[in-house]
Amino acid sequence: MTEDRVFSKLTPTILASLKEIADDLNVLTGDDCESYSRDEAPHPRHSLPEVVIKPTSTLMVSRILRLADQHHIPVTPRGAGTGLSGGAVPLYGGISLCLEKMNRVIEIDEANFSATFEAGVVLKDLCSAVGEKGLYYPLYPGEMNATIGGNTATNAGGMRAVKYGVTRNFVLGLEAVLASGEIIQTGGKFVKSSTGYDLTQILIGSEGTLAVITQVTVKLITPPGSREILFVPFNSLDEAIRCVPMILKENILPVTIEFMCEDILKLVQEKSGKEMPFKMYPAYLLLMLECAGEDEFLTLTSKLNDICLRNGAPDVFVPGSESAKRRLLEFREQFYPTMQHCHMLDLADVVVPRSRIADFLDKVKVISLKHGIDVMAYGHAGDGNVHLHPVGAPETDPVRVQLLLKEIYSAGISLGGTISGEHGIGVDKKQYLPLAFTPAKIELMRQIKLAFDPHNILNPGKVI
Ligand SMILES: Cc1cc2nc3c(=O)[nH]c(=O)nc-3n(C[C@H](O)[C@H](O)[C@H](O)COP(=O)(O)OP(=O)(O)OC[C@H]3O[C@@H](n4cnc5c(N)ncnc54)[C@H](O)[C@@H]3O)c2cc1C
Repeated sequence: MTEDRVFSKLTPTILASLKEIADDLNVLTGDDCESYSRDEAPHPRHSLPEVVIKPTSTLMVSRILRLADQHHIPVTPRGAGTGLSGGAVPLYGGISLCLEKMNRVIEIDEANFSATFEAGVVLKDLCSAVGEKGLYYPLYPGEMNATIGGNTATNAGGMRAVKYGVTRNFVLGLEAVLASGEIIQTGGKFVKSSTGYDLTQILIGSEGTLAVITQVTVKLITPPGSREILFVPFNSLDEAIRCVPMILKENILPVTIEFMCEDILKLVQEKSGKEMPFKMYPAYLLLMLECAGEDEFLTLTSKLNDICLRNGAPDVFVPGSESAKRRLLEFREQFYPTMQHCHMLDLADVVVPRSRIADFLDKVKVISLKHGIDVMAYGHAGDGNVHLHPVGAPETDPVRVQLLLKEIYSAGISLGGTISGEHGIGVDKKQYLPLAFTPAKIELMRQIKLAFDPHNILNPGKVI
């Protein structure tokens, strides 16, 4: 099983069979396939699928996969195409299997605090559906137009991971279709299980390489109390990062602890015309708290004030109104869109133990100088996930960028971290995986892939 194996091309007979299974209405060919040739990765690889199919049921997915497997046609599962690692790019043509029409709410089970959705339900619809029942799905992986299937396939994280964890921590069970067309159920609406290998967890984060996820059962909670924001300037990133373990040790569990530096704030200010509430400082923490009431808010902010001021913060800004809170969060949400317009050469999302963020960024500075390529950084201080954007002239030699990234990934790994905290490996980071995993571990992953997908038709060329 090698990634350059030659797959079969779609013949008119196979296309006719696919149209019969999926109905003409759900099949796109020719120029209509163009927007399925890429995702949102910063240097999108374009690779046209031979056909886009939008199934409307699990049975349809099963029949499509059975046919593709028989004829060795590659199949690239796709949600909303908002991925940042090239995962949904159909590298070898074949079928782009887009789940967007499988967007039904199957069940919201209030008694068991769980809900089951078809994989193509987008996050904003999922949140409204459970909200209508007085329940809450607390994860916020940045892009509310992404599908729950895509979130599951990438194990999406986001800003609220400090308190709630990542997608993996909220998925209870799955319905998935294997390459052979076999439909399997994993997990269920229960919270405990010691019953054999945990196939739910193997499929989460498998980026469409092991099975097509058709339904996702998630855990729900009751909605939190009020949300409060603190925005804290520091004279160095080191001071800011030092506060994080101290905050957690005080038994305060913010939903979000983000760090950001002067360079990205200046850039967003410049591009958006929006003013920051402070004069510029070298580094900041943005914290979000969930509080049951005013008393809890006052107790927590007083403790946080103490910790931040003891660590050199000149001030702590607490926006008083909902609109001021919203403005601060919107400012943070502008980081990635701003970077998209700033000659971003690539995008990395290294994760390190959270106390090592400042050490990691010191190393990145040295690597950046050595290679003569600027690197902008910001990220999730509460969980150690650092977003890094090498920036430069579009004609910068890609080999220079790869060498820079290789050293950055190695630096993260040397501090006890790994390559991707939330965006996945896809195709863009595949070449760096051996920096993090031994050959034995990669071979084990290959064997797992082989067990799920013996003919390597599912998202070939991705992850391993
Ligand atoms: C502005 C912006 C902000 C973002 N912020 C964050 C963030 O904070 N945190 C974060 O984690 N990510 C973030 N992302 C990345 C992206 O939103 C996530 O990776 C998301 O989970 C992708 O979902 P999707 O439906 O768009 O999947 P796609 O991009 O369509 O696919 C992603 C991968 O999942 C596979 N896949 C999709 N659906 C299925 C399925 N049903 N079965 C099997 N495999 C499937 C695909 O083959 C591909 O490998 C952001 C993206 C953007 C554009």
